[in-house]
Amino acid sequence: MSNQVQVIIVGAGPVGCVTGLILARAGISVLILESEPSLVLDLRASTFHPPTLDMLDELNITEKLIAQGLVTPTIQYRDVDDGLIAEFDHAIISDHTAHPYRVQCEQFKLAGFAADMMAEFSDAEIRFDCPVAGVTQDGDSVTVHFDTPDGPEEVSADYMIGCDGSRSAVRKSLSIGFEGFTYPEKFVTASAIEPVDEIYPGMGHVAYISHPTEWCVLIHAPEFWRFLYPIPLDMTYEEAFEREYLQYRLNRIAPYGKDYTVDHRTIYSVNQRVAETYRKGRALLAGDAAHVNNPVGGMGLNGGLHDGINLAEKLIAILNAGAAEGLLDQYDRQRRPIAIEYVQAQSIRNKKTLEETDPLVRKQRQDELRSLMDDKEKSIELLLQTSMINGVRKSLSLE
Ligand SMILES: Cc1cc2nc3c(=O)[nH]c(=O)nc-3n(C[C@H](O)[C@H](O)[C@H](O)COP(=O)(O)OP(=O)(O)OC[C@H]3O[C@@H](n4cnc5c(N)ncnc54)[C@H](O)[C@@H]3O)c2cc1C
Repeated sequence: MSNQVQVIIVGAGPVGCVTGLILARAGISVLILESEPSLVLDLRASTFHPPTLDMLDELNITEKLIAQGLVTPTIQYRDVDDGLIAEFDHAIISDHTAHPYRVQCEQFKLAGFAADMMAEFSDAEIRFDCPVAGVTQDGDSVTVHFDTPDGPEEVSADYMIGCDGSRSAVRKSLSIGFEGFTYPEKFVTASAIEPVDEIYPGMGHVAYISHPTEWCVLIHAPEFWRFLYPIPLDMTYEEAFEREYLQYRLNRIAPYGKDYTVDHRTIYSVNQRVAETYRKGRALLAGDAAHVNNPVGGMGLNGGLHDGINLAEKLIAILNAGAAEGLLDQYDRQRRPIAIEYVQAQSIRNKKTLEETDPLVRKQRQDELRSLMDDKEKSIELLLQTSMINGVRKSLSLE
C-alpha cells in the first residue's frame, strides 16, 4: 500500500471492517489500526436484521452469513410462567425487504468475511498490534498516534473513523462526551449445545421471555442456544456459574430435567449511551464508539453497520466526486437521532417490557401482543419497528 492514506479506521471489529471494505471497493486507500494481534473472536452479536442483510447483500456478504448462519423467519414473545404469548413471521414484511427474516450468525464471522474481501485491494491494509492512543488534527489532515511492537508511530490521512468500540480511545481523545446510564444489574450469556427446540417443543429460535426477575432472551445461533438473562450486580462470576444456580436459570426457561452443557459463558455490564457528536472536524465515530445499548432486540451492531455504510457512502462522494464536506454533518444529523429515538428508545422499552413487575400491566401487554397477531397491518408495523426498517427509513429521510 502507498504512503498516502485517505482514510484511517481505528478498530477492526465488524463495523470497522465493513466500512473499510466499502471504501476499498471504491478505490479509496484505507488503513485499519487494530490493537489486538488478530481479529477478535467475539461471540457478542448474533442477530442480523432484514435492512442490514439488504445492505450487506450489495457487498456479497449476506450469502456468506446465510451459509454460515441460521435463517430465522419467526420471533416469539413468551412468558416464563405463561408460555407462548405470540409469534410473528417476517414473511409478512416481504414487500419491505428482500430478506424477510433474521440471520443468526456470530459477529466475528462478519468481521472475517469483510477483512478477507478487503485484503484483495492493494490500497487497503489492516495493521494488528497497533493500539491507538490519540488523535490530533488541523485543517488539512488528521493524525493518529499509536503504539506498535517496535515503538510509537503516527500516520496522517484526510479522514479518520473511530470504530474502536464502547471504550473508544478515539472518542476520549477527541473529548466527546458519552452521556447515558449503566443498568443496575449484570447480564449473563450462557451458551448451551443441546437443541432446546427438541428438549422443549415449540420453543422458537428467537424468543423474548418475560418475567419480573428471571426474564431471558433465547437465541439459536449456529453452534449454540444462547441464554441471555440478568443477575444481581453483586453476584460474583463463581456464584453466577455455580452448577446448581446456572442449571436452575436455564431449566426455568426450557425445562430439561438434567444439566445443559454450557460451552461458553460471559458476564456483561450494560450501558445506554450516545456520543454527543459523531463528527469533530476530520474525525468521525461509528458503531459502539458512537452508541451502546442493551442487547434485547439485537440492535447495537446492526445500528453500527448502518452508521458505517452511511458514512462510507458520504466519504466516497467527498473523496471521489468532490462533494462538499458538509455531508459529514449530514452523517451526524442522519444517524445520531436514530440512535437516540429508535435504538435507545426501543431497546430500553424492550427490556422494560420483559421485566415488568406489575401483573396487570404484564397481562395487558400479553393481551396486546395476542391481538396484534390477528391484525396483519399492526403486525407489519411491529416488525418494521423491531427489524429496524423504520429507523433506517427515518434516517434516510433526514436532510
Ligand atoms: C451479550 C451481547 C449480545 C449482543 N447481541 C447483539 C445482536 O444480536 N445484534 C446486534 O446488533 N448487536 C448485539 N450486541 C452489540 C454488538 O456486540 C456491538 O454493537 C458490536 O460489537 C459493535 O461493533 P463495533 O465494530 O462497533 O465494535 P467492537 O466489536 O467492540 O470492535 C471494536 C474493535 O476495536 C478494537 N479496539 C479497541 N480499542 C482500540 C484502540 N485503542 N486501538 C485500536 N483498536 C482498538 C477492538 O479490539 C475491536 O476489534 C450484543 C452485545 C452484547 C454484549
